[in-house]
Amino acid sequence: MRTYIDIRNLKILACHGCHAEEKTEKQPFVFTVRLETDFSGARDRLEGTVSYSDVMKLLVGFCEGHCFNLIETLATEAAKLILKRFSSVRRVRVTVAKPEAPVPLDFETVSATAELGWETAFVALGSNLGDRKGYLDGAVSFLREAEGVRVLGVSSYLETEPYGGVADRLFLNAAAKIETILSPLELLDVLQEGERAAHRERKEHWGNRTLDLDLLLYGEEIVRSERLTLPHPEMTKREFVLAPLAELDPFAFVPTERKTAGELLARLRQK
Ligand code: ATP
Ligand code: MG
Ligand code: MG
Repeated sequence: MRTYIDIRNLKILACHGCHAEEKTEKQPFVFTVRLETDFSGARDRLEGTVSYSDVMKLLVGFCEGHCFNLIETLATEAAKLILKRFSSVRRVRVTVAKPEAPVPLDFETVSATAELGWETAFVALGSNLGDRKGYLDGAVSFLREAEGVRVLGVSSYLETEPYGGVADRLFLNAAAKIETILSPLELLDVLQEGERAAHRERKEHWGNRTLDLDLLLYGEEIVRSERLTLPHPEMTKREFVLAPLAELDPFAFVPTERKTAGELLARLRQK
C-alpha cells in the first residue's frame, strides 16, 4: 500500500536565478510537493509517516539558505534532501514555480519538476591483489558512507578462480544490495571513486586488481551507453557474480533475460 501526502503552493521568498539582481532581491518561489510513503494510514500514528510540517520547515530553510541559478537544480536538490532526511518517503515529486521570473511577457508562472526515489541496485565486489578481504570490507564501508546510498545487505565472500584468462591470482568476490537516490551514472561515478580509493590501477581489461566494483542491476533499467551497460553484460555467464547475487536476493530480476538471479544461477550450473 502507498500513501501520498501533497503539499500545495508553499510560498517562500528567496534568491535564485541567473540574473545578478535575482541573487540579492528576494522573489517568491512556490513549492508543490508529492511525498510517496509505504506507510499505512490505518494505524493513525505519527511514527512511521512523515510530518508535513517538518517537510515544509525543511524546504523553507533550504530554499532561503541557498542561491541556485536554476529552478531545476532547486527542485532536484530539494527532492534529494527530503529523501535523505525522511526515511519513510520512498519517492518524491517537487515542483518549483517562479511566478515573478524576469521575463517581460504576460504569463502566469514558470516551473520545474524533479521526481526521484530510492531505487534498489546490486553491486559486484571483487579483489585479487593484496589484502583482498580488507579491500572488500573497505568497499562496503565506502558504500555505507556514500552520499545518497544505503547498504541493505552484503553477501558472504567467495574465493573464486580468475575469469577471462588475464588475471592469475585467486579472487575474493561478493555482492552488495543497496538502495540509492543517485542515477545509474552518478552511482557508477561513486563506484569508480571507491576503486580509486583502493588504488585500483587499470592496466589491462580483466587483469589483476585490488578492487573492482561493477554495477550489476539498477532496478529493472536497461542502459547501453559508452560508459555504462545495464544489466552488467557479463553477469549471466559468471557464477562468482550470480551466486552472491542469488544469496542476497534470489528474485532479483534481470530484465534483459526476463529471469531471476536464482533461475540464471541454476541455468549456469546445469551447463
Ligand atoms: P567487466 O566489466 O567485464 O567485469 P572489468 O570490471 O575488469 O570487466 P573495468 O576495467 O572495471 O572492467 O571497467 C571498464 C569500463 O566498463 C569502465 O570504465 C565502465 O565505464 C564500463 N562499464 C560499463 N558498464 C559497467 C557496469 N555495469 N559496471 C561497471 N562498469 C561498467
Ligand atoms: Mg568486473
Ligand atoms: Mg569493473
